[in-house]
This record gives sequence, structure tokens and C-alpha cells, in this order.
Amino acid sequence: MTSSTDEYDLTVAEARLRGTEGPRWIGIRDGSIAAVSETPLPGARVVEADGALVTPSFVNAHMHLDKVYTLDLVGDAALAAYSGAGMDAALASIELASVAKDSYDEGRIEANARRCLRSGLQHGLRHVLAFADVDSRAGLRGVRPLLRLREEFRGVIDLQVVAFPQDGLLCDPGAEDLVREAVALGADVVGGIPWIEHTDTDAREHVRRMCELAAKHGRRVAMLVDDAGDPWLRTTEMLASELIRLGLRGRGVANHARALSQYSKPSLQRLARLARDAGLGFVSDPHTGALHLPVFELRAQGLPVALGQDDCEDAYYPFGRQNMLEVVFLAAHVLGASAGERLEALFDAVTTTAAQVLGIGGHRLAVGAPADLVVLNGSTLREAVAHHLPPRFVVASGQVVAESSSDSWLAR
Ligand SMILES: [Zn+2]
Repeated sequence: MTSSTDEYDLTVAEARLRGTEGPRWIGIRDGSIAAVSETPLPGARVVEADGALVTPSFVNAHMHLDKVYTLDLVGDAALAAYSGAGMDAALASIELASVAKDSYDEGRIEANARRCLRSGLQHGLRHVLAFADVDSRAGLRGVRPLLRLREEFRGVIDLQVVAFPQDGLLCDPGAEDLVREAVALGADVVGGIPWIEHTDTDAREHVRRMCELAAKHGRRVAMLVDDAGDPWLRTTEMLASELIRLGLRGRGVANHARALSQYSKPSLQRLARLARDAGLGFVSDPHTGALHLPVFELRAQGLPVALGQDDCEDAYYPFGRQNMLEVVFLAAHVLGASAGERLEALFDAVTTTAAQVLGIGGHRLAVGAPADLVVLNGSTLREAVAHHLPPRFVVASGQVVAESSSDSWLAR
């Protein structure tokens, strides 16, 4: 195509967009989507979608990025405990898994996390909520590599790094000071895991201290709440109440929350009302354990629910590639959502809804939005999910950052 002053930096040709008929051309300029047209647009570079589905790129709303590829260090005992039918040994699995931290090495953590981010990049990942254990065993050896990788991948995959006291706060003396240090180093999000404290009083104190730290430093909050098969766990409620009290509405994320599946309907509705008031977002990883939070029930209550990869080859989950289409594929089976609106909702849960949960504005395929998109392998959502292949093209900040021609649906 000849050069033109009207030329876009990059054009995606003959894209199929969700909810529209006929091909579209997407014009990208200065890192943003500048035009979406039913007629061809000139581009300095043209990416041929050839009728493939084009969507916003993927968001992984929950990921233990400092632990990836550590399963061999720990052995299978923790995995067996965490994936037991009733999640009744979840606490024991956390203790078994923490063995990995005795040989925590910053260089190895950084190399493993980089490898996992590259896998995510190949699969169209653009944003990730990345947890790093910050506790008396790990010290700051988990969070420092992730902060370095945040700078290395900025604009291609943006990391929100969570300073996460995995072994508790009151039951792990020293952890609180380390979380404060991690925030001073630049961690984006204050973490928490209140349900593993010894008493409800301690759990409430855990939530209070971490939320106050976030409020003081203008950070967001992301906690692992109620992660066992126990209907009496109430730390999601504590988190929501504290967000409201401290003026942190819309700045909190509740991860796991598996116990909610055991709540009575009135209890769930009461919690949902409070969570809506707190602007609390939820993340589920139904592929990682027998129990999972009631995804569609919370959605029906007007709450945003994202899906996360959670783990890649660690003590809690033996698979995973940060391929969010694979996460949708698995969730579709677990949740009975393999078609129609439910499948569409799961796709949103790794793209637009996930961005909403993480407080990322403008993550949509529309004029004026950042040019972060994927040209998928398939012309329909079902086809893309069925094969969960790497996208044919990954565009981040207006640049093509990954391509895949392997096993293309068009080549078959
Ligand atoms: Zn997790």
C-alpha cells in the first residue's frame, strides 16, 4: 500500500468483531484505536485478520507469578492437599507449599516469571495481577524480581504487583513490616489472606491493617478470602466493610472466596449487597480446585467476576501457561457454560470484566481506547475457545508484539 498522510500506523484488515455483521478495518495511531470502519483503511503495516475474531487482549486477574515452575521443589503432597474434594486441607497445603521458600532464589524466580510472562505474551496477555509472597520465609526475594519485570514488560504486559503475606499477618510475626517495605519499594497493591489467621478477631485485624496501609499509600487491595470448604468463613464481608469504612470503594479485589459456594442463599444475597456497595470485584479459578466461588450467582447479583490462571506448575496447580483461552475452556466445563451467553460471559471474564475488576480503564475495542487487541485463531468465540491456540497476532500499545502461524485455523 502506498504511503499516505491519512495512513494509520497499523491497520487490522477484515476483522470480525463480536456482536457485529460483516468485516471491519481497525486503524491504529499513536498506540490508540483511531478508527473502526466497514471499508478498508490504509496502514503503514497491515495485519490480515481474514475474517478471524478480533477482541481486546487478555487479562489475568489472579496469578502467583513468583511461584511458577516450582512444583518439583515441593513435591505432590501440597497439590494433593489443595485439590482434595472438600478443600478441607487447604491450610495444610499452604504449609507444605511454603517449603519452596527455603530455597527461594531471586535469580531463579525472575527467570521463571519471565518465562511465564513470555508464555502469556504468546497467548495475548496484556495485564496481570501478580502476587508475590512477602512473609518471614520469603522476605522480599519474591517481590523484588516482579518489580523488575514490571519495568521490563511495561506497555507489553502490565503487571500490578501485589505484596502478599501468604502465611498470614498476625500468625507470621515480621510479615507486616515486610509488606510495608514492599509497598515502599513500589508494590502496586496491598495483599492479604485473612482467613488463615487463628481467630475471626485476628482476621478482622489483618483486614484492617492491610486496608489502612493501602489507604495511606493510595494503593489498591487484593486479598485471598475464605479459601476453604467452610460456610462460616466471613473474611469477604470483612474486606468489603473495611473498603467502605476507609473510602476505598472500587479499589478492592476478592480472590478465591470458595466458601461462598457453601453459603445459604440469604447469606450470599446479604454479602452481595455489601460487596456491591464496596465496589468489590471477584476472581475465580475454577480449574484449580474442587470448590469454586458461585460465578454465575454473583454475576446475577450484579457483581463483576473475573477468571484467573492462579498458578502455573506450582504446588497448587500442576499445569497452566497463562493462556486465558485455556482457562475459559476449562471453566466452561466446570461451570457448565459451553455455549451462548454463559460462554460469552466467561470470555468477558478474561478480557473486559477482568479489566474492570482490576481497575483498568478503557480496555475495550472502540475508538479512543488503547490499541491492545488479539487476532484470534477462529472466526467465532466457540471456535477460538475450542482450540485455545495462541492468537495469530497480538497487538499491545499499538505494536505487533507476537505472532503465531502454527496450526492456524485458516491453514487447515
Ligand atoms: Zn491464588
